[in-house]
Amino acid sequence: MDDSYQLIIIGGGPAGLTAGMYAARSRLSTLLVERGLPGGQIVNAELVENYPGFPEGISGAELGSLMEQQARRYGLEIAMAEVEGVDVTGEQKTVRTGEGHYGATALIIAGGSEYSKLGVPGEDELRGRGVSYCATCDGAFFRDQTIAVIGGGNVALNDAIFLTRFASKVIVVHRRNELRATKILQERAFNQPKIEFLWDTVLKSIEGEGQVKLLRLQNVKTSVESSLEVSGVFIAVGLKPNTGYLGGVLALSPEGFIVVNEQMETGVPGVFAAGDIRCGSPQQISSAVGDGAVAAINAEKYISSIL
Ligand code: NAP
Repeated sequence: MDDSYQLIIIGGGPAGLTAGMYAARSRLSTLLVERGLPGGQIVNAELVENYPGFPEGISGAELGSLMEQQARRYGLEIAMAEVEGVDVTGEQKTVRTGEGHYGATALIIAGGSEYSKLGVPGEDELRGRGVSYCATCDGAFFRDQTIAVIGGGNVALNDAIFLTRFASKVIVVHRRNELRATKILQERAFNQPKIEFLWDTVLKSIEGEGQVKLLRLQNVKTSVESSLEVSGVFIAVGLKPNTGYLGGVLALSPEGFIVVNEQMETGVPGVFAAGDIRCGSPQQISSAVGDGAVAAINAEKYISSIL
């Protein structure tokens, strides 16, 4: 064991950083473990418009950085390491990382989620060569070109709207004829002349020699197949939880999200989950922040109860 803490938080997105801030203010010795830069998924959001307190919106990167600064201000320790496994069977929990093993009395798992893949031919082969999961990262490569966005949720429409800054045309390919995205984003997308929609359509494969050139599509109602010439495709078909390293130690939903009660308690005493990774999360920054606070408050109670 390298070090021992009262609380370890896995994940440095809004849920983890909020839990860290609460724990640090409660003067718990706390370590937050994050594999990348703190901030989580939101660092890829060009503009966050629905987090209260920022009437003009705020960039995701700036919001993440502010959350990190606020947590560090009260003494939160942050380690950059990839979690490889956890042992939660005894009173002392262990978090195994590539940088060493850490022990703690309580654990908050706030490791978030990552973009789902479609699993179609060409997706992996052409990733970084026209296939992207991050419009803010890669959008500028597609100046004056025709590109597609796959999906009908908030991320797909945010991406499509953002990409109109660069692309000459953005075609949103959605498997139904109704969008899941929030109405205000739908209004914006429908009013943006560069955005077109292909309804009831799924992507079958992505083709190109070293760079995306063509999408093979199929209409799910008529089964008619078609092709679309594009130089890029942004895949925005939802999120999947980062629970791979848990290795079956906690109860998960069929989709892989951690099952918690309203106190953010998992079935294992002293182990909590918060944010996108927990079952039933609305996957919003504001709900992740709320989860983080609830988890930290209850982790503190747990730690006090076994002293
Ligand atoms: P999402 O809301 O789950 O939407 C995923 C979209 O991809 C849906 O339209 C879905 O179609 C489609 N889809 C899923 N699997 C597919 C497949 N195999 N083939 C084709 N299409 C597929 O996911 P998201 O847009 O990534 O957003 C994730 C979460 O973050 C959501 O809870 C979202 O509300 C939240 N978020 C919120 C904001 C905001 O501004 N409030 C911004 C970003 C993200 P169906 O509709 O047919 O299921």
